[in-house]
Amino acid sequence: VRVKILGSAAGGGFPQWNCACRNCSGVRSGGVRANPRLQTQVAISHNGKWWCLLNASPDLRSQILNSPELHPREGQGTRDSPIASVVITGADVDQVAGLLHLREFQPLQIYATESVRGILTEENPIFRALQQAPNQATWRELPANQEFQLDCGDQPSNGFKCESISIAGDFPAYAGGITGSTVARARNSNQAVLGLILHSASGKKLAYLPNVAKLEDSWLPLLDACHTLLFDGTFWDDDELIRIRGEGKSAREMGHIPISGPEGSLKRLAGLTHPRKIYIHVNNTNPILDEDSSERQQVAAAGSEIAEDGWDFEL
Ligand SMILES: [Zn+2]
Repeated sequence: VRVKILGSAAGGGFPQWNCACRNCSGVRSGGVRANPRLQTQVAISHNGKWWCLLNASPDLRSQILNSPELHPREGQGTRDSPIASVVITGADVDQVAGLLHLREFQPLQIYATESVRGILTEENPIFRALQQAPNQATWRELPANQEFQLDCGDQPSNGFKCESISIAGDFPAYAGGITGSTVARARNSNQAVLGLILHSASGKKLAYLPNVAKLEDSWLPLLDACHTLLFDGTFWDDDELIRIRGEGKSAREMGHIPISGPEGSLKRLAGLTHPRKIYIHVNNTNPILDEDSSERQQVAAAGSEIAEDGWDFEL
């Protein structure tokens, strides 16, 4: 399985357009040694011919332009894409906005839970742009806490064996408070945020968990059996945003376990010896973005890595 990291920042990217935090100001001025990052986007391929997108970032258009593997192929006419499917693991803006970049009448399979699909197709009519022609978007059920076949290609046998993990979490704020609608009635909280474990044909596994509010002990053996872990690196501290902005929510309230602290992910994942551990979905306020920070050294000392845009590896 080929894995391409096309973006590694949390929502807003790095730097974020309206943010004057130390990191964002510093990367603009050159005063902080750090690499700018697009919003988190991962693409995977089981055969190098067909690709599956894990979520659809608001930066998706430029991420596709930057990746020759995702361009129209020769000899396929004037409309073509190797992108066969998209898996939507939650309804956050930075996970779904990129679907609108894929609206150009291209056949596409979109996997989402029933509740997330309802938010997108019933409550937010702009996503009907994906359904103007009969063979455009095909919505597929993304089951919670189950194994399923993730199709990626022109034949049903093309694709991945995949497991989904339901993560404690809520639907995004923009989708809250819509009462009386079909979707609100049908909403099932275990369909709000999912993690994925993808299996390669050779038996190696990739875990994709960019939004983890709570790390369950029962997942640890499952994660230790993975070859690579792409894990929630949004915030360093639980009170990071409150400290920097003077207001707001804690990391956990926003659906992200912080990296640091006794119950943080660095400690909780320290016992996993098998997988390559990579933090992704890093918020622009997170000190690990600063290459000279002690926080970045602590991550490295714990044997974990911090994803960069453009990383490309085989599983
Ligand atoms: Zn910032």
